[in-house]
Amino acid sequence: MKKSYAAGLDIGGTRTKIGLVDPNAGIVTDHCVFPTEKHNEENFYRSLSRHMTELKRRNGYTAADVAGIGISVGSFLYHPEGTIDGMSSMVDFLTPGYPLKDRVAAALDLPAVIDNDARLIGQAEALYGAGRGFCSVLTLTMGTGIGIALTTDGKAPGPEARMHLGGHIRVRETGEAPVLDGRTCYCHTPGCLESTCAAPALEAFARDALGKSVTCPEVFVAAKKKEPAAESVVRWYLTMLIRGLNQYIYLYGPDVIVLAGGLSEGFQPFARTLRMGLNASIAAKRTTELRLAQLGETAGILGAARLLSDTL
Ligand SMILES: [Zn+2]
Repeated sequence: MKKSYAAGLDIGGTRTKIGLVDPNAGIVTDHCVFPTEKHNEENFYRSLSRHMTELKRRNGYTAADVAGIGISVGSFLYHPEGTIDGMSSMVDFLTPGYPLKDRVAAALDLPAVIDNDARLIGQAEALYGAGRGFCSVLTLTMGTGIGIALTTDGKAPGPEARMHLGGHIRVRETGEAPVLDGRTCYCHTPGCLESTCAAPALEAFARDALGKSVTCPEVFVAAKKKEPAAESVVRWYLTMLIRGLNQYIYLYGPDVIVLAGGLSEGFQPFARTLRMGLNASIAAKRTTELRLAQLGETAGILGAARLLSDTL
């Protein structure tokens, strides 16, 4: 008889990922990625159910082999109800008070648990990825937005999502990047890290500087090839990010900062520059390391499944 597997579900603004996880080994054994159904609630659950059925079928599992499902979503969540609050515009029907945990549990006929995506990615990286071996791990999940998570010995502080909006600390003065000054963030903090260093901000800054639309990976690749205009964009970008990272060191004194999320995948050629920029220190002989995430796109699935095994 097969041991029980946990399922993990990672609902993003663009893509949804669902996978089967071996909780003892801490690995995602199989997963599917599909576009997030953002408008039609019925189709959203139909799509989840179809992909879960397919995962079980191709791995030869019955319903009895899957213990339950952990859910990762980019919102604040009230526990233990598992209802949505805020940041819900990415999916039309995830409005405040929406009982996402219960709806997923009913659709898949599985026990469910739920938490904020930045927290779960942070926990996964701390336990199984780039933060393994460190006590205090601060993870920035960088993509369309920037969410943060702090773990101590692999555990998040408290049962509810908190600190995940810490991506809104101020890093940029008015006038330093005029093209971004008119783009006000929902946090109402001018020059916050998210409105400076998340993907939409970098794209806008690069478009203005290069005179053409480029994606974030394209900017990083061009800078790696030493194209002067792209190098200048990335130099500016890293300066802004380093300002934020040094503030986090003073705020939280982590042993390591892990940079995660799709945007951070372009940072590899610049990791040394980032490390050299970390000059904040909370005590003599105490340094904060910087690592790039190791778990890639399955971190949310893994963190969500881990939450389930911690809860059941
Ligand atoms: Zn903001």
